[in-house]
Formats: sequence, C-alpha cells, structure tokens
Amino acid sequence: MENSSRIKILDESLCNQIAAGEVVERPASVVKELLENSIDAGADEIIVELESGGSKLIRVTDNGQGMNRQDAFLCLERHSTSKIRRAEDLFALTTLGFRGEALASIASVSRFRIRSCAADDGLGQEILVEGGKVRKAEEVGMARGTLIEVRNLFFNLPARRKFLRREQTELGHCADVVTKQALSHPAISFRLLHNSRPMLELRCEKGLAERVAALLGRTMLSEMQSIEVIDETAGICLRGLIGQPTLNRSASSHIYTFINGRYIRDRVVQHSIMDGYRHLLMKGRFPVVVLFLEIAPDRVDVNVHPTKHEVRFRDQAMVHDFIATTLQDQLKPAAWVKPVSRELSADLPPFNTESVSLGSVNHQIQTPLIREPIAPVYQSPGTDDSSGGLNPTILPLSSVSESETIQAGDLERYFSNLRYLGQYHSSYLLCQDGDDLLLIDQHAAHERIGFESLKESFFKNGIEQQSLLFPEMLELDFRSGQALTEHLDDLAHLGFDVEPFGGKSFALKAVPQLLVKGDNGRLIVDIALDLEQTGSSGGLVDRLDDVLIMMACHSVIRANQNLDPREARALLEQLDCVDFKANCPHGRPVMQRLRLVEVERMFRRQ
Ligand code: ADP
Ligand code: MG
Repeated sequence: MENSSRIKILDESLCNQIAAGEVVERPASVVKELLENSIDAGADEIIVELESGGSKLIRVTDNGQGMNRQDAFLCLERHSTSKIRRAEDLFALTTLGFRGEALASIASVSRFRIRSCAADDGLGQEILVEGGKVRKAEEVGMARGTLIEVRNLFFNLPARRKFLRREQTELGHCADVVTKQALSHPAISFRLLHNSRPMLELRCEKGLAERVAALLGRTMLSEMQSIEVIDETAGICLRGLIGQPTLNRSASSHIYTFINGRYIRDRVVQHSIMDGYRHLLMKGRFPVVVLFLEIAPDRVDVNVHPTKHEVRFRDQAMVHDFIATTLQDQLKPAAWVKPVSRELSADLPPFNTESVSLGSVNHQIQTPLIREPIAPVYQSPGTDDSSGGLNPTILPLSSVSESETIQAGDLERYFSNLRYLGQYHSSYLLCQDGDDLLLIDQHAAHERIGFESLKESFFKNGIEQQSLLFPEMLELDFRSGQALTEHLDDLAHLGFDVEPFGGKSFALKAVPQLLVKGDNGRLIVDIALDLEQTGSSGGLVDRLDDVLIMMACHSVIRANQNLDPREARALLEQLDCVDFKANCPHGRPVMQRLRLVEVERMFRRQ
C-alpha cells in the first residue's frame, strides 16, 4: 500500500535547493549571508573578493572566531546554528543570523569551499562541496578565522543562472550589501575587490560619522546632522545621521535604516521617515538618512522573512509616531546650528575619491560624489562642488556661516530683523543677514504662510463644503475599505462626505469647496490606502496637509508680482510666525544664502 502513496518526503539536498530559492536570489544574497556570519563571528577585518559580479566567484575571508573541525562539517547541515537553542531565543536575538540555513542553501547551489580554524595552532579544516555533496575534506594550515568560497553560483540550476544580470548590475548589488553592513559596523574594516581591483577600502573607524564620510563622501556628511533620541518609557531609541532637506535624492536609495543593528527596508519605518520630512521635500524627492532604531528584541519579530529584510513590530503605530516626531523635531531650523562634520577629528585623512570609486560601475556609491544641483543661486561654469572653487550656495536658512552662530532666541524674529534691500525680478526679496546676502522666493514664502494659516482655520472653524451633483462611486479593496470606514468622521472634517454603499463600495457626495475640480475620488482612494498601510493616525494628518497645500497654492502671491517695501516687510514678519521656514510646503527652498566670501570669490577678491 505504501508504494501507492502520492505524497513523498523530499530528500535533503532538494530541500536545501528549495530553501536556497528563498535565501539566495543572486550573488549579493550570498555576500549578505557570508558577511552576516563573519560579523556574528566577531571579525574585525573582512575581505570580499568577487569575480564577474560574483557569479563566477565570491570569496569572503574573516578573522573571526572560526570553527573547529566538527563545526566546519556541521555548519553545512540544514538547520545547523550556534545562535539559537530554544524558541524563546527567537525573541531575544543579538546575532544577525539564526535560521541556520544559509550555508546549507548556498552550498547546495554552487561549488563551495570552506576553510576555518578556531584555534591558534595554525591548523584548519577545509571542505569542498559541490551542489550540496561533500567532495573532499582535509586539514590545511591557516590562521584563526574563516574563508568561504562560492564558485559558479547556480551551476546546477541553469534556469536560475539565466536570471543573473550583467556583471555590473550584480556587482552593484554586492557593493550595496557591503555598504549597508559597513554603515552599521564602523569598527570593522571592509575591503571589496572585483576582478582583483579594489572597489572599497574601509579601515576601522571610531564612529558612524567617519564611516559615512568614507562611504558617502565628506560633502554629504557636512550636510548631515547627528541625532540620538531615547524614549525610556517606550523602550525605544533612534540615533544616526539625518540629511538637511536640501540634501535630497530622486529615489529612496539613500534611506539606510537599521533595526537593532540589522539593515531593514520596512514600510512603516520608511513611511515614518517621509513623514518626518513632510513638506520639507518636493514630491518625488527623498532624504538621505542613516538611522538606527533600537527596540527591545521581544517587541519586534525579525523572523517573518527568509532574508530577514522585513520585520513586524508589536506596536507599529508607536514606532511610526516616534520616528516621525523625532525627525520633525530635529529638522526644525534651530537644530542645524552645528553640522556634524565639524565634530570630526581633524586628523582624518582627506576623503579619497579613489578608494570608493567603483570604476565604471554604475552604482549608488558613486552618486554622492556628484552633488545634484538644487536650484543654485548662480551657476559657475567649469567648477564643481568638490573643487573648492565657486560653489552654488545651497545652504538653507539654518546653515550657519563660519563666522557666526544663530542663537535659538534670535530665530523668533529672524526675518523681521533682516535688512530688506529690495525686490529682484518681481519675484525675489533681497535681504542682508550680517555679511550674507539672502534671496527669498516670495511665492514659496507666501505659500508656506498660506498653508500654515489655512491649517489653523481648519482646526478652528472647519472647511467649507460643496455637494456634488452626481455622487462619485468608489470601489476599494477589503482592507482599504475597512480603514476608510474607520475614518469617515475625519474625512467629514476635511470637507469630504463619504457614505458607505454596501460592501467595499462608497459614494463620494461632497468635497471641499476649493477642490470641486480636483480628482477627489483618487485622493480618497489614496487616503484609504495610506491609512491601511500605516495603521496610524499619522496617515490622515498627512493627507490633510496635502489637501491644505493644494488650497494654499490657490490663494497666494505669485511670482512676478511687484511688492512695495511695506508689503515685503509684512511678508518677512509673517514668515517669523510659521514653523518651518526653510521650505515651502512643496519642499522648494524658501530662501538661498550667498555668503560674503562667495561674492568676493566671484569678483576674484579672495
Ligand atoms: P546562521 O547564521 O543562521 O546560524 P548559517 O548557515 O549562516 O546559519 O551558519 C551556520 C553556523 O555556522 C553559524 O551558526 C555559525 O556557528 C557557523 N559559521 C558560519 N560562518 C561562520 C564564520 N564566518 N565564522 C565562524 N562561524 C561561522
Ligand atoms: Mg548566517
């Protein structure tokens, strides 16, 4: 009878290959797992060597604690780990690895060599594995530590090998992985070589700022601020470096987030960061941050995804709001009086572009070296940012010129106290601040003011509503529909009359007066999705602001409008009454600063 059973238990090597399907997607996934193991083994020197983007060879060498003969064999078995013993350990993890499946999976889909030595006797164990089968094992002379070589990834799975991309693309992903590990472990020295050429050389550093300087560039670091905020009652801490809003990117690739030392790309965390920068960035722009969230291990589950790239928080809304408010507080102008680069010790060697340049690799490590021009005050042909020549001044209000520091108290009447010089091109107010020349975009400034006062009137009197002649029918998915149902009252406050219409359908019957012509159905769908995804009240506040921004845009001073000095002064005084002064609600800078030295350089007086 037994023979007739259709169901079979899969053999071990097939199991490993299936597991590899989840853990090993491309060379970069191998690099990630091997680096995690080296870090868990306490190494402070790690070398990653690649050939052909890693598809031909990946070799990771570390000086960690190593493994003895027995462990070197054991580590290749599925579910073999030294990092957990009991189920409870899963909720008190201090290591990067714990699932015990990485090495077994990798060895099942490659030609694999491990060499490890746990003692100082100079004798190690070497094991060769091919497609999961041990081919050879012998003793070798070596120093304490581990070397793992992965050749011809997916040699035995041609279908998967076909999915590998061009060498440069795979290399880019590998370099990404090294970058992320290097950011979270400044005290470890990392070297990355490709086809024997050094790509990254990172020596052991004292702290995050030095590592960021070495990886992302000193220019970038000079526009970042270090933060550390602990909420003891909530048992949560956020520290790291955050970029000024003017330092922004067109993609989220420079948002580096770590939870308990582990690189994570989490939806909630990502959203909360964007929330922290709300109205300081233009749509479609992303900040540069390197942030470490520390939270009690039992309040976050990292075992929800094979590659551990995602987590689940026990209290998602609390984490979201903590990050968002922390950033909002830190991004207030007064917080920018001391850029972090000045804290760096002077004895650091100058930033060496060669050591991080990835040659012809089109990869994000390079991008920091090319600062994007963000509406420069003036363009100086033939010079770039790093040359020390004429620089487009992109300093926000809060940046401090060398000669002075802004006292927090002065900020309250900052704009009123400026010397008003005149209006330029019917669009910009020229003012003098000490030795600096300021250009203020009157439209952006007024938009900011309009937005703030609209917000105030909203909270006091509510928004005028207009019924639609034909209600608009909305069809949502189950979860969005539920989220929306919970927030119908909030929407009514915003001027939207949304009525449940059975199941996941809703009828939009009235909208805010000013938005009659807008695509309100879409706005509501977006709001619902947002509410569903964040699970926090922050979602709606977000949208509330978006709605108010649109309204503000309709009610303000345009560019190309003459202002007499009295009107200009009034505008400056109003600017002192709003919260964020550096940007308009769309994130365009409200003002630009031209320092005296820069003017002098323009006239060759320096
Ligand atoms: P995990 O990291 O989840 O425990 P792995 O398959 O990645 O599972 O590794 C299995 C075990 O092999 C680890 O628990 C560790 O004890 C050992 N190991 C792997 N790599 C190294 C290394 N570079 N140095 C020392 N020990 C290692
Ligand atoms: Mg591991």
